[in-house]
Amino acid sequence: MKRVALLGSTGSIGTQTLEIVREQKDIEIVALAAGANISLLEKQIREFQPRLAVLWAEKDAADLKERVKDLSVTVLSGMEGLLEIAVMPESELLVTAIVGMLGIRPTIAAIEAGKKIALANKETLVTAGHIIMPLAEKHQVPILPVDSEHSAIFQSLHGERGNQIHKILLTASGGPFRGKKREDLKLVRVEDALRHPNWSMGKKITIDSATMVNKGLEVMEAKWLFGVELSQIQVVVHPQSVIHSMVEYEDGAVIAQLGTPDMRLPIQYALYYPKRRSLSGKRLDFYQLASLTFEEPDLDTFSGLGLAFSAMEQGGNIPTAYNAANERAVALFLEGKISFLQIPEIIQACMEHCNYEKQPKVEQILETETEVYAFIESRW
Ligand code: NDP
Repeated sequence: MKRVALLGSTGSIGTQTLEIVREQKDIEIVALAAGANISLLEKQIREFQPRLAVLWAEKDAADLKERVKDLSVTVLSGMEGLLEIAVMPESELLVTAIVGMLGIRPTIAAIEAGKKIALANKETLVTAGHIIMPLAEKHQVPILPVDSEHSAIFQSLHGERGNQIHKILLTASGGPFRGKKREDLKLVRVEDALRHPNWSMGKKITIDSATMVNKGLEVMEAKWLFGVELSQIQVVVHPQSVIHSMVEYEDGAVIAQLGTPDMRLPIQYALYYPKRRSLSGKRLDFYQLASLTFEEPDLDTFSGLGLAFSAMEQGGNIPTAYNAANERAVALFLEGKISFLQIPEIIQACMEHCNYEKQPKVEQILETETEVYAFIESRW
């Protein structure tokens, strides 16, 4: 039995991870953590019988404790609880599928405790890649990407150790507004932005796909994961989402990973790496694939993507400013308080306003986040 701890079990990635566990039957879930969804977490505890469960607020944890008092599960709360899960001796792999910078400290703790990391929480690498990657190297801990594009790159790198990467070709669906111009996006409604053409995901990441900020975050994530120069990462819009990303080697050969848009495949690959397992669901039918097309991203309309390259070039805590600003701007957009086009405007303003820190420590990353939130609060 593989022993796995899961942060963010009630979310989109979390529930799909548990679908795999249910299907494969040889993974023991030793811990589960969620934010506030008490009912679903209770259900998951009853089904998967973890030893430890965590909810963010103390009050919610107390409520959950009462509900599952017939079971032998320990219930904790807050960051303390997440850190407890990260280092628990019973687990060998930690799936980090919570949202936001909350993932940084548990990921660091788990690496220091020698746990393998299946990383969905891209914010951790975007903001603290300079801490996480050397630490993982030091502790010889693999960071296994869960993001479909990064999993595709990871799979395309398999067996190529020592061969020079010329370029990483990061594919993007282009989201629901592909082909539109700024003018067309002035009056976008929340419902329109939540209508992703290919993938079914959480709300925040779906809006990030519509602005292409998600691709920007993925560019930063790829740079850290694969240790390439920013100039070696090229975003390619591929509306069919069949090719999940590619690697071009120095001889011009391009290796790609293809599949249906189903997050369970990259999740399962990370859980069982380097083994492949059978997986239920639709398969690609090449007789049915009418065409695969490719475009250059429109950086004028989707300025959030260009800003990501700029944030990563500046480095330090600017990617944190980018990420924090986006998180808050997306929340404001979902609440109907700002327009769609204000999202990249807010990101840019926050990047410009940020007090630059070249090698931020975790505390400084979190301080940058707080400062960005305060700046947005004061202006929007
Ligand atoms: P969701 O919003 O669907 O789920 C987020 C999870 O985090 C939920 O379980 C939520 O719990 C939990 N959570 C939120 N706040 C806290 C907290 N304070 N303490 C503990 N747990 C908390 O997000 P996704 O699953 O879509 O995304 C998760 C991560 O994976 C993100 O970083 C995203 O960028 C990345 N990712 C997602 C993909 C996707 O297809 N969805 C693809 C690739 C990457 P609760 O439900 O109780 O609020």
